[in-house]
Amino acid sequence: MNGFVHIGLPGRVVFGRGTVDTISAEAARLDMQRALVLSTPNRRMLAELAAEKLGSLHQGIFAGAQMHTPVEVTEEALQIVSDQRIDGIVAIGGGSTVGLGKAIALRTDLDQIAVPTTYAGSEMTPIIGQTEHGRKTTEHTLEVLPETVIYDVDLSSALPVGTSVTSGINAIAHAVEALYADEVSPIVAMMAETGVASLAGAIGILRESPRDPEARSNALYGAWLCGACLGMVGMALHHKLCHVLGGSFALPHAETHTIVLPHVLAYNARFVPDAVAALSRVLGTGEPATALYQLAVEAGVPVALSDIGMPDDGIEAALDTLLDTPFWNPRPLERDGLIKLLRRAFAGDRPMTQ
Ligand code: NAD
Repeated sequence: MNGFVHIGLPGRVVFGRGTVDTISAEAARLDMQRALVLSTPNRRMLAELAAEKLGSLHQGIFAGAQMHTPVEVTEEALQIVSDQRIDGIVAIGGGSTVGLGKAIALRTDLDQIAVPTTYAGSEMTPIIGQTEHGRKTTEHTLEVLPETVIYDVDLSSALPVGTSVTSGINAIAHAVEALYADEVSPIVAMMAETGVASLAGAIGILRESPRDPEARSNALYGAWLCGACLGMVGMALHHKLCHVLGGSFALPHAETHTIVLPHVLAYNARFVPDAVAALSRVLGTGEPATALYQLAVEAGVPVALSDIGMPDDGIEAALDTLLDTPFWNPRPLERDGLIKLLRRAFAGDRPMTQ
């Protein structure tokens, strides 16, 4: 075995079915007495559930979280934090809600409990992306890492099949890029492999039986592991490209990741034989990029960027933005190759190793 450096992250994880019932004990552990519960507008019922479970430890609900953490929404929530003398944050929902909790913690140092109900993985990372004047910036700081994460399998059961698949592949993307990250350790590789195996297996079952408790449990477990990988090592072309595409054309987050991942893996494949071998083991095929593409096709979710709002003439502009700031990738960033990659992703073609 080669030498390695492994940096673990702090945090308490409660995993299981019905674990939302532990929320008031977990809040008390963090000395919260006046918690603010966050959700997106269309998942206010989740916030109400958390508030009910918190009982006297909650002081209000803010159901205004939005994708990409707009600063004006954070400021609205901060007003409540100040007016209501809030002493802790409970974020219940997907990455958008967890992102708002992180944005508040960044400015107030309040403790956070995250109760994720999608597979995006933000709850396990010290990363925050925020949008101001149409520009999304990303920051790494332990201040935004939630102190406690409660994974409740039952809460994820209501996630529609399409969102489950795209959100699950969004999580798999974290593990794929972790496997070929510059600083990957054997621990991270182990988590990534198990995460992909858990999620990919679960997605196959959830297509037919969306409420299957074992598949939901495996999916959420996989999402935790993949999110932890995202938190521990740096990401490369796939995450940078999705960031640019999402920011430039306001594309939906999980769908963009689902479409782009097979093509980036095919682009990088020749340069990352160990990662390809690991993915082949857990996906049961020598062509992991094609297997991931097929997972999306069989689930009936979009596989073409043209179908989720990318404009016809967007490829060159996206590449200009992508290549404007240099970043590490296992394969050098070659404009011609990237154009081919994006053309195939735009059209929804099968991924092709270059
Ligand atoms: P999201 O949080 O916007 O959720 C997608 C939709 O699903 C929303 O309408 C939400 O209300 C709904 N939803 C959530 N849980 C549900 C459930 N159980 N049942 C039914 N509907 C449910 O999207 P997301 O994909 O979870 O997260 C995307 C956001 O998270 C992006 O802004 C992205 O940048 C961010 N993100 C950040 C990190 C990080 O490390 N900082 C990591 C991953 C994602």
